[in-house]
Amino acid sequence: MRAVLSAGSNMGDARAHLRSVVDEFAGETVAVSSVYATAPWGKTDQPDFLNQSLLVDVDASPHELLARCQRLEQAAHRVREERWGPRTLDVDVVWIDGYTSDDPELTVPHPRAHLRRFVLEPWLEMDPGAELRGASIRNLLADLDGQGVRKL
Ligand code: ATP
Ligand code: CA
Ligand code: CA
Repeated sequence: MRAVLSAGSNMGDARAHLRSVVDEFAGETVAVSSVYATAPWGKTDQPDFLNQSLLVDVDASPHELLARCQRLEQAAHRVREERWGPRTLDVDVVWIDGYTSDDPELTVPHPRAHLRRFVLEPWLEMDPGAELRGASIRNLLADLDGQGVRKL
């Protein structure tokens, strides 16, 4: 099952949190994006988010894949609960090839992915021909403003 994952962190060692996701899927990864920095929304006295996406090919069900993502979040949260505030690591399932679901526990494609430059830019980098909701990623990006996203 091929899937796109989006990881984000702006607390603690954000690079290390992203690396934990890359490491978890190391044997099942088709492509990894660059790391992107995204300016925080609203509350500007916090660090930029770092975002990175993965294109994976896993031998797992959609819910098993989500559970793996959530275990990575929990592993990062353990550090957070001792020393840091929220959002040490967020790992979302953005898209699964040939699969859609409106289950609130796992909605696929991710209901806000098409609005988020920090999701679409890394996805375009990994798979330039990708489509979401019947539109090309490239065209979806053309409709969005900069959103403070930059490739590192
Ligand atoms: P957003 O979904 O807007 O990016 P968030 O990532 O901050 O917000 P969370 O608090 O991390 O939201 O997740 C809330 C719930 O969303 C999770 O408990 C999870 O079951 C559910 N969920 C639904 N669809 C997905 C998905 N595609 N990927 C990850 N979680 C999902
Ligand atoms: Ca998210
Ligand atoms: Ca999430």
